[in-house]
Amino acid sequence: MNASTQACDPDGHVDVTPNWTCPFCSLLCDGFRVETEQSGLRLVGSDCSKAVQGLADFGPATASAMPSVDGRPVTADMALDAAVGRLAACRMPLFGGLATDVAGMRQLYRLANATGAILDHARGDALMHALRALQDRGQVFSTLAEIRNRADLVVCIGTDAVGNFPEFFRRCAPVDDAGFARRTVFVGVDAPAGLAGEVAQIAPEGDLFDAVAMLAALVDGRRVPGADTALADLAQALRAARYCVVVWEPGRLPAQGALIAEALLRIVMSLNRSTRAGAFILGGADGLQTANAVTTWLSGLPLRTRVGPLGLDHDPLQYATARLLAGNDVDLLLWVASFGTKLPPPSTALPRIVLGHPRLASACAGEGTVFFPVATPGINSAGHLFRADGVVTLPLRILRDDGLPTVADIAKALEARLALRRLATEGQP
Ligand code: SF4
Repeated sequence: MNASTQACDPDGHVDVTPNWTCPFCSLLCDGFRVETEQSGLRLVGSDCSKAVQGLADFGPATASAMPSVDGRPVTADMALDAAVGRLAACRMPLFGGLATDVAGMRQLYRLANATGAILDHARGDALMHALRALQDRGQVFSTLAEIRNRADLVVCIGTDAVGNFPEFFRRCAPVDDAGFARRTVFVGVDAPAGLAGEVAQIAPEGDLFDAVAMLAALVDGRRVPGADTALADLAQALRAARYCVVVWEPGRLPAQGALIAEALLRIVMSLNRSTRAGAFILGGADGLQTANAVTTWLSGLPLRTRVGPLGLDHDPLQYATARLLAGNDVDLLLWVASFGTKLPPPSTALPRIVLGHPRLASACAGEGTVFFPVATPGINSAGHLFRADGVVTLPLRILRDDGLPTVADIAKALEARLALRRLATEGQP
């Protein structure tokens, strides 16, 4: 039993883990408890729908999960041999999904280097919106703590925040003796119910591109004939705020959303000439923040990069998973989805190697697929993840041991066997 987990039920049916770090979105809330019962896991202290749904994926059945090849259950050794055979035969593999923790991503990077693989995350499209703005203009980030301690104005653009990050407003609610009143404004979306402080919503005409462009011009003090009066008032409030934070969610932006991201950054930079302002990006779930951070520190380049013996090649458009699969530009898909059942591997005629949550087994039962059930960081293995604001890496503790290998375990075993196989057949690893 983990040292922080204590049996508390006289029947021995319930263990309680206090201060559990939740892996189901990039806020990584770490103040709730989880009860480990015989039938599954139960969240205590929050009604977060994402965490409740995430925990519901873990019943007692995971203990009997087995690897499979072409839908037939096999031993781990047989699955590793089958997967290595496919890796050795491919010339241009794609490592997609990448929903894993720091250790898993480090090992996947090594395996990618050995095979010349392209790395892209299941949420790569959302990442590219934010990344493009970062590459072109830089960034001015706020952290959760800064919002909590300083932000008298929070402006959510095109997101209600709580739809995909249910605890966001509780995480950054002002402290009791903050000394300021918080105003929260929602642009282009309905405000969620029950929010503390002054709340307003604006429904500008046109789409989000139009609204953000107009707001940027108004914040800059430019004359905008026929400007939306609500946006003009918001621009005035942004300039008058002591510390304002612009919150946006890359995953909700339409195609070409990088244009909106750049305009938002321009607003923040413009405000910082006369007051304090920052941006908070609601993204990075399913290990996206972690996969990108690890890839960047190991290679110097972000995701959508091909790594291998011939060097590095980054292409944010061509190396998108959907485009690569649709164009038959790769000859193998290795898919990683360790946090739950929400990211099944894309269907494709290519050979697939899947490192996934045990309940993805049925989605991986077709011909040509090698499936490894793996542990979930923060549930049945320990691990580390980057938080949404990118300033901390939080440790994840194990709630229960289902005897499953981690993504890092499988990737490391594949790399070792691949090296041995090459040594035997080609005389070099
Ligand atoms: S907001 Fe995110 S990290 Fe917090 S409890 Fe919900 S799913 Fe978990």
